[in-house]
Amino acid sequence: MMLQHNVSLRPFNTFGIAVNAAHLALATDEQSIAEALEYRQKQNLGLLVVGGGSNLLLTRDVEDLILQNGLKGITSQNISEDTVLVTAAAGENWHQFVVHCLQNDWGGVENLSLIPGNVGASPMQNIGAYGIEIKDSFYSLRAMDVRDGSIREFDAETSRFGYRESIFKREAKGHYIILSVTYQLSRRNHRLNTSYGAISQELEKMGIATPTIQDVSQAVIAIRRSKLPDPAVLGNAGSFFKNPVVENALLENIRSTYPQVVAYPAGEGHSKLAAGWLIETAGWKGFRRGDAGVHALQALVLVNYGHASGKEIWQLSQDVVDDVHQKFGVELEREVNVY
Ligand SMILES: Cc1cc2nc3c(=O)[nH]c(=O)nc-3n(C[C@H](O)[C@H](O)[C@H](O)COP(=O)(O)OP(=O)(O)OC[C@H]3O[C@@H](n4cnc5c(N)ncnc54)[C@H](O)[C@@H]3O)c2cc1C
Repeated sequence: MMLQHNVSLRPFNTFGIAVNAAHLALATDEQSIAEALEYRQKQNLGLLVVGGGSNLLLTRDVEDLILQNGLKGITSQNISEDTVLVTAAAGENWHQFVVHCLQNDWGGVENLSLIPGNVGASPMQNIGAYGIEIKDSFYSLRAMDVRDGSIREFDAETSRFGYRESIFKREAKGHYIILSVTYQLSRRNHRLNTSYGAISQELEKMGIATPTIQDVSQAVIAIRRSKLPDPAVLGNAGSFFKNPVVENALLENIRSTYPQVVAYPAGEGHSKLAAGWLIETAGWKGFRRGDAGVHALQALVLVNYGHASGKEIWQLSQDVVDDVHQKFGVELEREVNVY
């Protein structure tokens, strides 16, 4: 285990928030993770695991032990002519993992191309984009219990995935360090999901009538590049809020004033609203206070123009939550993990 003290966390979070870590452990194997847990116990510290820091808002200096999970390696096992199990260590970059799958012509994660961050965080919030979530191809994961160092396996059922949710973000928050994740992917007869309008439009623009998984990935990459700010240029953590699920009565109430409200069916008597539409309609798109802002093109994304503190971004998010609640009666929930 490599241990550092009093380190700036700015390079460790895509918001580019400049707080300090009192103790930062970099682990590249399971033994180092066990050592980090021992150190933490001896020093009586809390623990914060980080991957790519792309879903994190740091609002204060961190006295707890920060553990950067840098485990590497990808293995695969064909389980039939149609199916392969692919296991990636938690510290593998997510997009590089997707690229690896595409190079091997393994289908199932192509719609999730270019999502920042690492494999280990992918089950945390059941990452999703363009009509797919990782739960659709998830097989199992291995995790270390931070309380006693034991190793446990979780399958899709015990991971309790939901929309941007899992047991690891809720009931078992902070209990496990995810070590590796196994996906069940197709080796042939790939089932493409191009139902998301923008994908089929992009494929048409590319002149592709019978797309491959590689084409779908290229289409997704092109759409994402045109829509989302690159954290290397403008600090952000992607969608800051979840799309809220509300009762249909509330939707109808909103619709009576705003006939153009964006909503999708979400199970018996409920609808999912587009949080971006609510925030934009409330007038926040492009708003800036100091270096904290709401992105000018995508209201769901909060940004750091340079030197915003985590507290300033958090306060802006709270003002958005309060205002949307006042105007629409809808409670927005943060998707980003606030520390
Ligand atoms: C531009 C942009 C676009 C994005 N688009 C999407 C999108 O389309 N869909 C989507 O779902 N998300 C999206 N995100 C959010 C983010 O990329 C994902 O949530 C990603 O999975 C986070 O990975 P990470 O390694 O950066 O996690 P981190 O930010 O480092 O950590 C996130 C949470 O997971 C915990 N954690 C991380 N690794 C482990 C581990 N190994 N074991 C236990 N806990 C761990 C952390 O403690 C923290 O609570 C986007 C972010 C950005 C910046």
